[in-house]
Amino acid sequence: MTKEKNLGGLDYFKLIAAFLVVAIHTSPLVSFSAAGDMIFTRIIGRIAVPFFLMTTGYFLLPQYLLEKSEDKAPLLAVWKKLFLLYLLAIFIYFPVNLYTNHFKGIDPWGMISMIIFDGTFYHLWYLPGAILGIFLLFCLSRILNHKAVFCITIFLYMIGLLGDSYYGFLSGNGKKAFDVLFLLFSYTRNGIFYTPLFLALGAELKQIGSRKNHRFFLFGTAVSMSLMLWEGILLHNKNVSRHDSMYLMLPCCMVFLFLFLISWSIPPKSSLRKISTWIYLIHPMMILFVRGSAKLLHVEKLFINNSLLHYVSVCAGSFLFALLAERLSLVLRRPKEKKARAWIELDREALHHNIDELKRILPEGCRLMPAVKANAYGHGAVLMARECNQMGITEFCVATASEGVELRKSGISGEILILGYTHPKLFPLIWRYHLTQTVVDEAYGKTLNSCGRKIKVNIKIDTGMHRLGERWENYEKICNIFSLKNLVVTGIFTHLCVADDPEEKKIAYTKKQGEIFQKIQRLLKEQGYDCGKVHLLASDGLLHYPDFGGDYARVGIALYGLLSSRFQLEYCPVRLQPVLSLKARVAQVKMLYAGEGACYGLEYIAKKDKKIAVLTIGYGDGIPRALSNGRGHVLIRGKKAPIIGRLCMDQMLVDITDIPGVKANDTAILIGNTGNTEITVYDLAEAEGTITNEVLSQLGSRLERVWK
Ligand SMILES: *Cc1c(COP(=O)(O)O)cnc(C)c1O
Repeated sequence: MTKEKNLGGLDYFKLIAAFLVVAIHTSPLVSFSAAGDMIFTRIIGRIAVPFFLMTTGYFLLPQYLLEKSEDKAPLLAVWKKLFLLYLLAIFIYFPVNLYTNHFKGIDPWGMISMIIFDGTFYHLWYLPGAILGIFLLFCLSRILNHKAVFCITIFLYMIGLLGDSYYGFLSGNGKKAFDVLFLLFSYTRNGIFYTPLFLALGAELKQIGSRKNHRFFLFGTAVSMSLMLWEGILLHNKNVSRHDSMYLMLPCCMVFLFLFLISWSIPPKSSLRKISTWIYLIHPMMILFVRGSAKLLHVEKLFINNSLLHYVSVCAGSFLFALLAERLSLVLRRPKEKKARAWIELDREALHHNIDELKRILPEGCRLMPAVKANAYGHGAVLMARECNQMGITEFCVATASEGVELRKSGISGEILILGYTHPKLFPLIWRYHLTQTVVDEAYGKTLNSCGRKIKVNIKIDTGMHRLGERWENYEKICNIFSLKNLVVTGIFTHLCVADDPEEKKIAYTKKQGEIFQKIQRLLKEQGYDCGKVHLLASDGLLHYPDFGGDYARVGIALYGLLSSRFQLEYCPVRLQPVLSLKARVAQVKMLYAGEGACYGLEYIAKKDKKIAVLTIGYGDGIPRALSNGRGHVLIRGKKAPIIGRLCMDQMLVDITDIPGVKANDTAILIGNTGNTEITVYDLAEAEGTITNEVLSQLGSRLERVWK
C-alpha cells in the first residue's frame, strides 16, 4: 500500500505528456528552427503516448499478465472508460470532420479501419489503439506466460518499426509487403504493433517498484534519451522514415523514465489525471479556435505565424478548458441528498480515535491486524480496510477465502489472513489473491501441501479453546506441518476464550493459555523452526493481557468502538467510540384510532387515538425481531418513539403520538444519537439477549454504508 500511495510522479508527468502531445500537433518551434522543431516534436515528443500506455499497463495489467486473474471487472472498467472517451471524442470531432471533408471518398472498409486503427480524427488513434492493445494482451495472457507475451510484443514492435522510422531500409519486396498492411491501416502505430509493447512494459515494471536507485534511473533516462535523439536525427537525415512514432531506443527510454517517475515519492494528484485527459481530448478543437479567433481579430502574425505563441495559447486555452471541465464534473458529482431507505453511517473520526487508543496499549513491537470478517462486523469490510490502509495498517484477518478475495478485488494490498477453514476446491483463490491460509491441523496441512503450489500459511494452535487448531499436546504434528514443502509458514497463532472474564479461575485459565503458547514457541525455536509472526490477542486479550505480547493484535469489536457486552465497559482501560449509526426513513405517518390493532397478528391495540409512523427498515436488514412490541425504540426528531406491534421483514411501526411534526421522509435513528439521547448497540443486544457482535454482524447487505 505504501508503495502504491506515492505515485504522484506519474500524475505530474501526465500533464507534461499532454502538453507534449499538443506540441506534436502544433510544431511550436517551427518558425524559429525547423530542425529544432523536428527534434522536439518528432523525437522528444514521442515519449508522451508510450507514457500513457505504460501507466495503463502498470495499474491494470499485472493481475492478468503476471497473476492470471479471472476477475474481468477491472479490465471491463478500463475498456468501458476508454470506449466512452472514444465515443465522446468521435462525437465532438464529427462536425469538424464534416467541415474539413475528412470523410470524403472513404469507402466502408476505410471507415472501419479508421474507427479501429487510425482514429476518426488525427489525434484519436491512441484510444482505439489502447482498447485493441489491451484486448490483445488479455487474450495472449490466457494462453501464454507473461514472458512469452512480452517477447511477442517486442516482436510486433520490431515489425512496426520497419513500417515506421525504418521504412526506408526495406527492400522493394519488404516495402510491398508493408504496402499491403497499409491497405488495412495507415500506420503501424496502432493496437497491434505499437501499443502492446508499452502496455506490457508497464505491467512488467510493476514487479520492480523499487524506491531506491532514483538517481540511476534519471541518469538512465538522460543517456537513453540522448541515444534516441541521435538515432532520430540520423534517421531523419537519411530520410528513411515513413512516419516517426517508433524508435529503437524509445522503449528503453520509457523504461528508465517510468522507473524514475515511480521511484519519486510524492503524493498522488488525481485532478491532474483528469485535466490531462481533457487537454488531450480537446486541444485540436483549441487549435481551430485559436486559429479562427486570430483570423477574426486580424492577429494572425502573432498567434498563427509565431509558432511558439500559437503553441502557448493552445496550451493555455486547453488547460483552462480542462480545469473548468474538471471543476464542473466535481460540482456535478457532489453528493446529493441521501435517497436510501435505510443506511449505515460510519464515523471516520471515531475509527481513527479507536485505532489511536488501541495503539497506545499495544505491546512493544506489536501491530494491529484488524478483523474485518463478516463484512467488518457489519460496517463494510472494504470501507474499513481501505480506511485502515490509509492509516498505514496493512495486515487484516478475515474468516473466509471469499472475504479475502473481496478485499483484494477492491484494491486492498498487504497481508490478509484467512482465520477459518477453506475447502480444497477453493485453494486456487488463496494463491491467486495472495491470501494466507490458516492450517487448522496436521491433516489439513497435508491437503494444502498436496495442491502443489507454494502457499503462505499460519498454523493455528489449540491452547485450550478447543475450537480450530492443532492441539498443543500434539507437538510432533505441529512440527510436521513445518516440514511440508509447499507450505510457507509465516506465523503461528492461538485464540483466547475467556479473556473477557475477570473471574479468578478464568484469569488463571487465560494465563495458562498464554504460557502454553510461549512454551510451544520455545520448543519450535529449539528445533530450529522459524515461527514467523506470533499472535494470540483479540480485543479482550489486548485490553486485559497486553503483557502476552505478540506481533499482531487481531482486534475486531474494539476497533469498531464497542465491547461484546455493556458490563465490560466498567473495566475497559481505554475509551472507545462507536463507529456505526443506523438510520432509516419515515415512509408514512397515519392515525391509529382507539381500539384498532396494527401489524401482523394485530398484537398491538391502541388504547386511545395514536399517531404512528411506518419506517423503512425491518428484520430483513438485520434488526432483531425481539425489539417488537415496545421492547425497542427509535429516535425521531430527537425523541424516543417505541416500536409497536411485530417487526416486519422490511418495515416497522413506531408510536409518534408525543412527537409533533413528524412527516414522511424524516430520518429515524435506530442506532446512534441526537443531542443527548442515544440508542446503542448494547440496547439492541440486550433486548435480544445477545452480544453486540451478533447484532452488528447481522446488519444486512441491503443497507447502504456511507461515511458521515
Ligand atoms: C473474530 C476473531 C478475532 C477478533 O475478535 P474480537 O473479539 O472481535 O476482537 C480474533 N481472532 C480470531 C481467531 C477470531 O475468530
